[in-house]
Formats: sequence, structure tokens, C-alpha cells
Amino acid sequence: MTQAQHPNKIFKFCPSCGSTQLRQSGDRSKKCPHCGFHYFFNTSAAVAAIIFDPEGKIMLARRAVDPHKGQLDFPGGFVDPMETAEEALTREIQEELGTSVKKMTYFASFPNTYPFAGMEVMTLDLAFLVELETLTGLKPMDDIASIEFYHPSEVNLDELPAQSMKNILKKLNEHT
Ligand SMILES: [Zn+2]
Repeated sequence: MTQAQHPNKIFKFCPSCGSTQLRQSGDRSKKCPHCGFHYFFNTSAAVAAIIFDPEGKIMLARRAVDPHKGQLDFPGGFVDPMETAEEALTREIQEELGTSVKKMTYFASFPNTYPFAGMEVMTLDLAFLVELETLTGLKPMDDIASIEFYHPSEVNLDELPAQSMKNILKKLNEHT
């Protein structure tokens, strides 16, 4: 698999007028000298759910799709345009686990890069401590293949590829 590249390397032509003169303008934007179009590579927001079972183990999802197919992740996903982080989390939990969120409390945020279609998508992952309506009969759906429970100190970090998820786990281990 080829290494995902920074958007500055991927965006070569002006998306507005098609000019080949699109130039880098700072670390995270490109500007077209021909038509004045100026595009910023903004951070995408994403949410992650920290769900404990009664034994103090956390729920991790085994990914069914690339990137990182077969590896572990916290349940969650990208925030849609015009959606709140809380709405995104509620929607993702419904889509992935088929249940509702009973209670959520903001925990922490960590930046990440998410390789997609050969590009590094920059994200800010917002983690919430989540209580579900039920922990029984959950059915993994959407982009997850299975759900597994681990004590936070027992997770194999090599199986948790996203740096932001590693950081969430590290912070959980400092607090528990
Ligand atoms: Zn242009």
C-alpha cells in the first residue's frame, strides 16, 4: 500500500478554473494566482465512544473496512456537516451497534491523520464516555465486524493503529 500523502501534494490543479498554477499558501492552504481561488485543508471532526462494561472493560470494534481493516478502533466516526458532535455520536452508535445512547460525557480530544484514497485526512477526534441503553444483544453493523471487550491496560497497541485512539487509551489508563 502506498503511503498516504498530505493534501498539499495531492491537489495539483485549481478546482475552480483548472489552472496548473495552484500554489501552496502556508502549511494548509493552496491559492490559485489565475482566478484567486483559495482553499484551506481544514480539520475534519470525528467522535469516539468510550464504553465500559460492568467489569471495567472497554468496548473496541474490529474494523470491517479499510483503512485498518481487521484492526481495532473505538466505536464512532466522522461528524457530518451541520451536525453536533453529540448527534454524530448518537447516530454512529445506532448505525454500528443498533442501540441508543443513555448518557454521554465529554472526555478529551486528540488529533489524527486518517489515510483515505491516498490522502492524509486530518481529523480532530472527540472522545466521550458513553453509557448505552443496553450492552446485551448488540449487533455489530456498518463498518465494524465484531465488538470486543478489553481492560484498558490489556489492549495490544499494535492492534489500535490510530494515534488518537492510542492517546485516548493512554489517558484512560492514567485515570483508571
Ligand atoms: Zn483558479
